[in-house]
Amino acid sequence: MQSLQKKILQDSILKTPCAGGAYLNDPELAETLVTESPDRFRDLSAWGSVFDVEEDCVPAQRPFGGQRFSRTCYAGDRSGHEMIATLTEQIRNTGIRQMQETSAIDLLMDDRRVAGAVTLDGGDGNLGVITADATVLATGGGTRCYDISTNCAAGGTGDGFALGYRAGGATLIDMEMVQFHPTGGAVYPPPIHAAASSPRRPRGGRRSFEEQPRGGTVYGTL
Ligand SMILES: Cc1cc2nc3c(=O)[nH]c(=O)nc-3n(C[C@H](O)[C@H](O)[C@H](O)COP(=O)(O)OP(=O)(O)OC[C@H]3O[C@@H](n4cnc5c(N)ncnc54)[C@H](O)[C@@H]3O)c2cc1C
Repeated sequence: MQSLQKKILQDSILKTPCAGGAYLNDPELAETLVTESPDRFRDLSAWGSVFDVEEDCVPAQRPFGGQRFSRTCYAGDRSGHEMIATLTEQIRNTGIRQMQETSAIDLLMDDRRVAGAVTLDGGDGNLGVITADATVLATGGGTRCYDISTNCAAGGTGDGFALGYRAGGATLIDMEMVQFHPTGGAVYPPPIHAAASSPRRPRGGRRSFEEQPRGGTVYGTL
């Protein structure tokens, strides 16, 4: 019975990213997000992230972009910072070698397999080589191709796309899907952030789910 309830809840939650993505999303990826998020939240909490809680110590939740009920956990107005600080601490504990201010500028190829990367040290300008059995590209998006975006100035270079493409094996997909975050131009406290991301009419009155315009145009009503 409990697993049926869980399945019904997951199906209901799955509708939000799919509707937000105008049903152009990869359904498998959307389902992974929905089914695995609770465990990742528990991981972060176990590793020391301090999220807001209700009076009875149950994790507090708010409705964020397009959600029909409160289901986003948060840490004040610094959720991202809390998560990054926790993950950085975890990496320190593992002894994994970190190289700050070092960029991968090309992938090394061994026959048709990726065998590591050529790096550039932003401090001294030296080039380096890292060899690896497995290479994961997690370099974020590519919004720097726009003069103005809602991403931070340091990221969004599209390096990962270029590295994979130049290496000859990566097929770039969905390149036209770029998010401009509705509250990215200013810092808002979470309730405003949540309201801004919620489907509302320009002057009062919450939209019903059926009335929501598709995808990012929800934000256009602000
Ligand atoms: C204003 C704003 C608000 C947001 N609010 C939310 C929210 O409330 N909830 C939510 O879930 N998401 C939110 N997001 C989205 C979320 O921040 C992103 O989806 C997420 O950070 C993407 O993670 P990522 O690891 O793919 O990329 P990133 O976080 O961009 O990380 C990529 C990393 O790769 C590094 N890098 C890039 N190129 C190279 C290179 N050549 N060599 C080495 N390193 C490189 C970068 O320095 C960076 O550290 C928000 C985004 C914005 C802009």
